[in-house]
Amino acid sequence: EEDRLMQSEKLSTAGQLAAGIAHEIRNPLTAIFGFLKLLRTSSQNNDQYFAIMESELKRIEFIVNELLVLSKPQVSHASKPMDILPLLDQVITLMNGQAALKNIEIVSAFSEPSIWIAGEANQLKQVFINLLKNAMEAMPQGGIIRIHALSRNNEAFISVQDEGCGMTAEQIQALGKPFFTTKESGTGLGFMITHNIIHNHGGNISVQSVPQEGTTFTVTLPVISEPEAASS
Ligand code: ADP
Ligand code: MG
Repeated sequence: EEDRLMQSEKLSTAGQLAAGIAHEIRNPLTAIFGFLKLLRTSSQNNDQYFAIMESELKRIEFIVNELLVLSKPQVSHASKPMDILPLLDQVITLMNGQAALKNIEIVSAFSEPSIWIAGEANQLKQVFINLLKNAMEAMPQGGIIRIHALSRNNEAFISVQDEGCGMTAEQIQALGKPFFTTKESGTGLGFMITHNIIHNHGGNISVQSVPQEGTTFTVTLPVISEPEAASS
């Protein structure tokens, strides 16, 4: 069983990241330029070329959208006191439709009525959407995803546990490197973004995984005391 804390040092420098991005964006662009050239010289029905151009453009859009999350201002500017539990419920509701289609049930267990943290809601939603997406993608046969939340010693612990394919020690090592993916159309950016957001919130993320059995990601965040105005 693997249990390792993600290390910030593992994350690439801005330069390496930019090089990786350039590489990733060049492939879809090359395809589009090629088809445009063909279109100019071809007199045949061109529907198939348009379909490929559209899907390649969507891929660029997807990669750029994922990267935009990284370039958003630091969390301290937009950080607000919030109860993390309703946010988790919102994300679960958001993902339930897709989960049901894949024969996946998302079960939550919160061990307190509320857990207050300081954070930026959209970024934190992105974190749990990314973790749930990965959990779902790890379970092509369906199964159960369990989300637990508790607070202990002024820390919130939120875990996302799946019954999916699990990860090897090598895969856990590679997690957090930009563009590391084992999926045919993965970007390998989701976890890096997740990790960045959690660290910007003063938290941490760890992984425990057993191949063929499943994976648990645990996010920790500093707990704050409940604001006066919120208790009314
Ligand atoms: P992507 O989902 O686009 O591949 P991520 O950064 O979200 O990129 O994840 C990187 C890789 O980490 C995945 O391709 C997969 O190999 C592994 N991974 C992440 N979460 C899980 C999980 N819950 N179960 C198994 N493997 C996972
Ligand atoms: Mg992902």
